[in-house]
Amino acid sequence: MEKKQFKAESKRLLDIVVNSIYTNREIFLRELISNASDAIDKIYYKTLVDDSLVFEKDNYYIKVVLDKKNRVLKIIDTGIGMTKEELDENLGTIAKSGSLQFKKENTLKDGYDIIGQFGVGFYSAFLVADKVAVITKAFGSDKAYKWESQGVDGYTIEECEKDSVGTEIILNIKDNTEDENFDDYLDEYRLRYIIKKYSDFIRYPIKMDMNRK
Ligand code: ADP
Ligand code: MG
Repeated sequence: MEKKQFKAESKRLLDIVVNSIYTNREIFLRELISNASDAIDKIYYKTLVDDSLVFEKDNYYIKVVLDKKNRVLKIIDTGIGMTKEELDENLGTIAKSGSLQFKKENTLKDGYDIIGQFGVGFYSAFLVADKVAVITKAFGSDKAYKWESQGVDGYTIEECEKDSVGTEIILNIKDNTEDENFDDYLDEYRLRYIIKKYSDFIRYPIKMDMNRK
């Protein structure tokens, strides 16, 4: 008898991930900061196993940038970035974890503590954002790409400009509704509180640029 693979209704699945797995919207920032940390850890790992590379500590950080006026929140990292193929695989396939794969392929356990494994955390961005863009340039590549999505209707990938290796996640924060106040995620103190609460253990610096009007 032929064995069949399960199929998934990806739009429904995304809806389930976004609205049922997470009960608390504020965890989106933990998920995106964890991904940023994982991306830096992967570079760190490369420098451990390749003597020709050095890890210049000061070059690796995560930055949270608030542009309140335009309702934009950015999570920027100087980590390993993604190629076009990786963007497509990791952010285009629900429950596909590039980080889990990395851990399987790189058996040396010391030196990094990559968090990712389930391949769904990224989509929690849609808990607070109605549009998400990812601008990324992979380590060793001279091309940069932009991934963009408004949720269930899919995503686009196009070539773009980016000078340095790493990733920028750009969130367009939702407008307030009658029963929910999304302005919370555009409030400097609230964001600082969320970062302290969930991301205190992250071992790379989290810089904040939140003083824009
Ligand atoms: P997980 O972190 O559990 O693997 P996510 O849904 O959070 O799942 O992310 C999916 C994958 O997308 C990650 O495993 C990683 O390969 C890739 N990714 C996400 N964010 C970044 C980033 N900032 N830099 C590089 N790769 C990333
Ligand atoms: Mg993750």
